[in-house]
Amino acid sequence: MCGIVGYIGKRQASPLLLDGLRRLEYRGYDSAGIALLTDGKINVFRKAGRIENLRKAVSEANPLGDIGISHTRWATHGAPTDENAHPHLDQSGKLSLVHNGVIENYQSLKDALKAAGHVFHSETDTEVLAHLAGTIYDESDVSDPKQRLVASVQKALARVKGTFGVAVMHADVPGVIVGARLGSPLVVGLGKDEQFLASDVAAIVAHTRDVIYLNDYDLVTLTRNSYEVSSLDTTRTANVQVSRVDFTEEDSEKGAFEHFMLKEIYEQPQSIRNALRGRLNRDEATAILGGLNMSSMELRQIDRIIFSGCGTAYHAAMVGEYLIEALARIPTEIEFASEFRYRNVPTTKSTLQFVVSQSGETIDTLAALREAKRKGLRCLGIVNNVASTIARESDGGVYIHAGPEIGVAATKTFTSQVAIMTLLSLLFGRMHHLSSTDGLELIDELEAIPEKIEAILKQAPLIKEIAQKYAHAEGMLFMGRQINFPVAMEGALKMKEISYIYASGHPSAELKHGIIALVKPDLPSVFIAPDDAVFDKNVSNIEEVRARKGPVIAVTTEGCHELERITDDVIYIPRCKSILSPLLTVVPLQLLSYYVALARGCDVDKPRNLAKSVTVE
Ligand code: GLU
Repeated sequence: MCGIVGYIGKRQASPLLLDGLRRLEYRGYDSAGIALLTDGKINVFRKAGRIENLRKAVSEANPLGDIGISHTRWATHGAPTDENAHPHLDQSGKLSLVHNGVIENYQSLKDALKAAGHVFHSETDTEVLAHLAGTIYDESDVSDPKQRLVASVQKALARVKGTFGVAVMHADVPGVIVGARLGSPLVVGLGKDEQFLASDVAAIVAHTRDVIYLNDYDLVTLTRNSYEVSSLDTTRTANVQVSRVDFTEEDSEKGAFEHFMLKEIYEQPQSIRNALRGRLNRDEATAILGGLNMSSMELRQIDRIIFSGCGTAYHAAMVGEYLIEALARIPTEIEFASEFRYRNVPTTKSTLQFVVSQSGETIDTLAALREAKRKGLRCLGIVNNVASTIARESDGGVYIHAGPEIGVAATKTFTSQVAIMTLLSLLFGRMHHLSSTDGLELIDELEAIPEKIEAILKQAPLIKEIAQKYAHAEGMLFMGRQINFPVAMEGALKMKEISYIYASGHPSAELKHGIIALVKPDLPSVFIAPDDAVFDKNVSNIEEVRARKGPVIAVTTEGCHELERITDDVIYIPRCKSILSPLLTVVPLQLLSYYVALARGCDVDKPRNLAKSVTVE
């Protein structure tokens, strides 16, 4: 959430910073700003709204400067206005700071600073941190300016409670940017005679692929030619590793697609192939997941699994619960990551916890991971972003290898997460009750999924027509049974996120226990009803909706024409093993929400109030 980009080098900073912000805009986009250090003075530009507004303001002034910090905000404290946008200055106007996260004790710090005569210009928690660091700097007796800035940032951060990724520069310390993190990601990009600091590699990958992912409590001091990483916590030593980013700037471009979301929906055949690549063992009819870092003996002893995640990752975990219980017979539970840490879930030594997060930075999921580890649980990650905090802090895990996902509404990462859940269920299944023939059949079916998704994508024009028909509905219900119940939840989430139509997902049978009260002619219901063991039950629920004049859109299996008679619109998916059907049924729902949002004129890639990768609690 929110983006930070800093630059120090020989080139003009403002175009680089603006380009970096544009690439991070999916992480927060309610306001943005940049600060440049020019001739010993800090020059700040801040604008509410999209980065385009900021770009215009900056290009009119055409400021010079080869050092700068910048920010795209996802407001937590104070409305998205020019004044609340970052960077913020201290009382002297010489220290400038951008921040990702939340300073929980900002009010008491602010009161104390106000009593000492400080005047604030914004409602943010961040401005308090800028004033605090600035005042410590002004009062410091350290003579070397660089050391003085580093020590001031360190001391200020020691006094705050909360989470932060920060970048700081000072007019009296030209040639230096200081960064630090606790709970919010920050990465250093190493160039030749230039260095970058960013909250996400996507911002800097066009300039360098050599990066250092900072850990919590790391503080970095950057000059044009050097970097120095130390620890905010004197009991730790910083562990610095230079890594090479495994994707290029083209991977995070839209190409010929109108939106990132559409591009990512269309990438699913490939992203699923990537998730499966090298992980299927036909000889043993099982999956190979070396990253779990567990021996077969240890895996076989697992008698309970807990999945934690948020939003779409939670829905993927729900599918995982069905898969693992069905194929491996291991009791499996899912927990909202945000709740896990506040519940006291009883566990045993043979319980295995998985945390699921696209970004690997989701703060609630990270907190669940830390809580699980505190309790001595072995905790594995299912993440997309290599070297993310969750990937680094977990005991092992599985990368989904979906490539950068820029659309705020997750699509390809859902199907890739489900593909990994399937591999886990195959692996555990083969250690317990699943026969080799059943394992092989699952492998065959899984490998056929990408082609089947391609067939669904060809129906986009039909789905677009259906979407236009219902685009102005006041609400939508999504119904599914068994393993497609989580898909109903996910379909409803997509619809809410990008079209702002209130939607909810339910087990079909729950209809008669309350939801049916909502059914009426302008409230469509979407039934996910493939030709499986619960098909007839779904048919009965559809009839119940029809009897009350509710329009019905059905997603069902090719060749199963029965629903045409009792529904208004039918979308067909290719036939597949029913346990794998979520990998297919979700695709028409992604397209449906996309086209509904388009018909309503919504900004699909940057939905209102949302941002990718939620790094605040
Ligand atoms: N808490 C800060 C604010 O509201 C930073 C938010 C962010 O991470 O964008 O300004």
